[in-house]
Amino acid sequence: KIRKPVAGIITYFFAERGKPLKINDFLEKELIAEVCEKYELECIFDDEKTTTAGDRGFLAEQEGDLKARPPVVTVMGHVDHGKTTLLDTLRKRSVAATEAGGITQRIGAYTVELDDQQITFIDTPGHEAFTAMRARGAQVTDIAVLVVAADDGVMPQTKEAIAHAKAAEVPIIVAINKIDKPDADPQKTRSNLSEEGLLAEDWGGDVPMVEVSAKQNINLDDLLEILNLTAEVSEFKAVKDGPGAGVVLESTFDASRGCLATLLVQRGTLHKCDYAVSGTKLCKVRLMQNEAGKEVLDAGPSIAVQVTGFQDSPRAGDQFEVYPTAQEARAVAERRAKETARGKVGFAGLHTDSEQTMRLALILKTDAQGSIAAVQHMFSDVKDSKYVNLRWVLTAPGPITDSDVELAATCPEGQRVMILGFNTQVSPSAERKARECSIKIQNFKVIYELYDAVVAALESDLEQEE
Ligand code: GDP
Repeated sequence: KIRKPVAGIITYFFAERGKPLKINDFLEKELIAEVCEKYELECIFDDEKTTTAGDRGFLAEQEGDLKARPPVVTVMGHVDHGKTTLLDTLRKRSVAATEAGGITQRIGAYTVELDDQQITFIDTPGHEAFTAMRARGAQVTDIAVLVVAADDGVMPQTKEAIAHAKAAEVPIIVAINKIDKPDADPQKTRSNLSEEGLLAEDWGGDVPMVEVSAKQNINLDDLLEILNLTAEVSEFKAVKDGPGAGVVLESTFDASRGCLATLLVQRGTLHKCDYAVSGTKLCKVRLMQNEAGKEVLDAGPSIAVQVTGFQDSPRAGDQFEVYPTAQEARAVAERRAKETARGKVGFAGLHTDSEQTMRLALILKTDAQGSIAAVQHMFSDVKDSKYVNLRWVLTAPGPITDSDVELAATCPEGQRVMILGFNTQVSPSAERKARECSIKIQNFKVIYELYDAVVAALESDLEQEE
């Protein structure tokens, strides 16, 4: 919300206070106040649970009436347990699809209705995307649906998803999937889940669990009903009137239509012809469409729309907000562009006059899947850079082992390669092997230091070339 890099905050606490923090940690109020002091920001605590975004967030949050808004749901779980199938089956019954005759496209989120109550689903499954958003400072999800296949039970990524949802303090609802399969064992799945601390309501716990078949569309109404109930209990609210603000969910480029960005409105209402700013990117909302490609003129809290009108692609995970006039919007975008240029270290300084592209191959091993997205996000600035070409040869959770060194050794002659660890271990034999092959392994606890090491490697590359 304060538009400061999470890496800077982590580094501050580590370097100044000797306090190691991870990307998923929550800050106590005193620490939040300290961060604000460091960045010379005014800090006002508002204990009401509301979602807001934008420069004027803290104040605007209190203006206007809070109204109930649909919950925003993310689907998580182990690979192949049916997340995509569940999202596909539900997308077919989205509000827009039923109105427009059933043809929908993926725009990043959609809304379905049950008994006049709406529920918005984020169309990118998995906790990696979820945590990457959180790492950028955007809390998008209100409720997590954990999909567990009843023929497979709890698997490693199921556990990871539980950890990520818990870290974000969002309620979890379990969809025990694939109950149509002959070897499905929902009771065993419940028992697996209880070992992970998720106790079903009918077992005396407080986690709603529904047995479904995403593929055969069985009991999905029950799932939606439970989502509605959870939303009612949690009382998700937002101001509906006033300028729209929220988060960029997706951003793509289309040759004929230009930049297409899917915006999830979190507060206020977004209208056609509004002037919006996301990061340093300016937008006059020319056309807003829902997932059925139908034009919509306004979108309120928890509704996602695909918009055209950004001059330049905004970044997924960045917040956006609407300004009353084109001049105000432009002024905000320009001010931020100046600030970014001034405060930028690392890659910006690496731009050379030469047309030379610096290439670096990277192997990244981390403590958890979610950290991979967080690390890669730090380098999102250079994704399209013509000066720097980072190639992620392998990214995986786990320790650095011999096979990683072997992989590094396969890089073409003359191409630089780095093995990076983040909060992970290095096996002694990998260390030995790396020395033999003159390959450097670097392991970091602070994400910012990892970034600096990559920048330093690129810089030394430059010097060698000169
Ligand atoms: P994801 O990796 O979690 O997104 O899983 P997918 O949605 O891609 O599903 C993996 C496989 O399981 C696919 O072949 C699906 O057709 C199948 N599948 C998903 N849901 C069900 C279900 O409810 N019943 C059965 N029998 N198969 C399912």
